[in-house]
This record gives sequence, structure tokens and C-alpha cells, in this order.
Amino acid sequence: MSTSAPQGPAGRIRIVLVGTQHPGNIGAAARALKTMGLSQLVLVAPEKPLDDAAYRRSAGAEDVLGNAPQYATLAEAVADCRLVLGCTARSRRVQLEQLEPDVAAGRLLELATQGPVALVFGRERTGLTNEELQLCHASVHIPSDPAFSSLNLAAAVQVLAYEVRRALLRSVPVAVPASSGPDAQPATHEQVEGFFAQLAHTLEDIDFHKGRAPESAMRKLRRLFLRTDLSVHEVRLLRGVLADAQRMARLATEAGHGPSQVSP
Ligand code: SAH
Repeated sequence: MSTSAPQGPAGRIRIVLVGTQHPGNIGAAARALKTMGLSQLVLVAPEKPLDDAAYRRSAGAEDVLGNAPQYATLAEAVADCRLVLGCTARSRRVQLEQLEPDVAAGRLLELATQGPVALVFGRERTGLTNEELQLCHASVHIPSDPAFSSLNLAAAVQVLAYEVRRALLRSVPVAVPASSGPDAQPATHEQVEGFFAQLAHTLEDIDFHKGRAPESAMRKLRRLFLRTDLSVHEVRLLRGVLADAQRMARLATEAGHGPSQVSP
């Protein structure tokens, strides 16, 4: 960690580059971060190791580049994050809430007061996969010309880093809520994923899908819950509700009334 690393919320904003194909772009992204007072660059499975071009294009941001940890998957890189936003060149391609860059920057800063947050960028040729976007709470699109919408990777990083800086310069210190016991703490990515896994099982147990493909309902439910800011306590409460629904479904089955036979 460099001694010039920013403290406070800005120090908790992670810029994650997934599967980058050109090391030079990683260097240029490091420079883009540093000019805007950010330093947390994270790499997920870059195609090639950092080389001379990467260091040359970082142009003085070698510390940011040299300190960047590398992970094998996006899930590992964001496991402890409070908020994960995925940047995509294609508007409305995914069924995720889509944020303007300034709104995204404001939200990142707000949640960075509570823990690490991430802004994720995809591959130069193909962007982020649908599976990777599914791990994001919302997408971010820079409103470019729809006929020529794709910015160079480092240019996209620069635009978002600039918006984060503007949001930071505008922001006033955020008051810590009075009731901030461990239960009021925001749930981690992993805890929310545990809830989603139980929700998927419960929908099966209560025969919610009735022959329809389960993916569509789960996608919509994920979107709904990811829009809110679930606390540890709320996740526990929701999982308690699901556990009771699962118990009732089991009792109905044992009594010879499958969920489909239970009258409305
Ligand atoms: N052909 C790819 C473009 C990838 S550009 C595609 O269609 O997805 C590399 C990365 O830069 C993208 O994955 C995205 O994270 C970012 N990016 C480029 N243009 C962007 C835009 N207009 N809005 C948001 N992010 C953008």
C-alpha cells in the first residue's frame, strides 16, 4: 500500500478491471485513478502480465499499478463489498437498474462510508459477461452516442473516476446513525447471496414456478432486493420467514396436501 493512498471513503472505492487484454490500458487506468485521488486498482484475470507498456502508460502512477492485487474471479474480488456497480458500453443490455455516472458516483461514496465498494469494468473486446453483471447491484452507462457507444477502457475509467472526484468534492461528512450495533450493520455480499440461495430453494418448495423456468422470477427478485440496502438483521429476518415457509410446505406435503393442493 502506497503512503499516498487516500484515506476515508475514497480509499474504499475499488476500481476492478476484468479480463483486460492490453496491459497498456491497465497502466492508463492506473493513471486515470491517480489523477482523481483514487488508488485502489484491482485486477481480475488479466490476459497478459503487466509489462513495459503498462508502466509507461501509467506515467507516474507506478505505485497504483504495482499495488494492484489480482484475483481469479470477479466474485472473489468483490466478496466483501457493500456495493458493486458494473460499467457497460451497451445501454439497457442487461436487466439491471441503470445509473448515470454522477448518480453512481454519489451512491458509491455514500456506501463507502460503511465498507469497500466496487466499480467494475469489462474486457476491451467483449465487456462483462452476463454472469459477471449478475454479481452487480446496478449497471452504469456513460451516455455516449448510441451509434458509437464504446469508450476505450481507460477513458471509461477516467470518466467515472472524475465523477467520483466531483461527488467527493461536493460531499459533506455523513453522520453515523445512532443505532449502529452489529445487527444494524449492512449485510455483506456473501450474506445476501446466502439469502438468495435460500429464496431459490423456498420458491421450489412452495411450487411458486408451476412449471415456468425459475430464472426469470429469481432475476426480478434479485433486482428488487439488490436495490435495497439490507442489514445483517434484515437478512436474518427474511431468512426466518423463508425457513417458516419451507417448514409449512413440508408439513403440507407430509399431510398429503402438496403445495399445489392447498386452497388459496
Ligand atoms: N465491445 C465491448 C466494449 C468494451 S469497452 C462491449 O460492447 O461491451 C471496455 C469496458 O469499458 C466496458 O466493458 C465498460 O466497462 C467500459 N465502457 C466503455 N464504454 C462505456 C460506456 N459508454 N459506458 C460505461 N462503460 C463503458
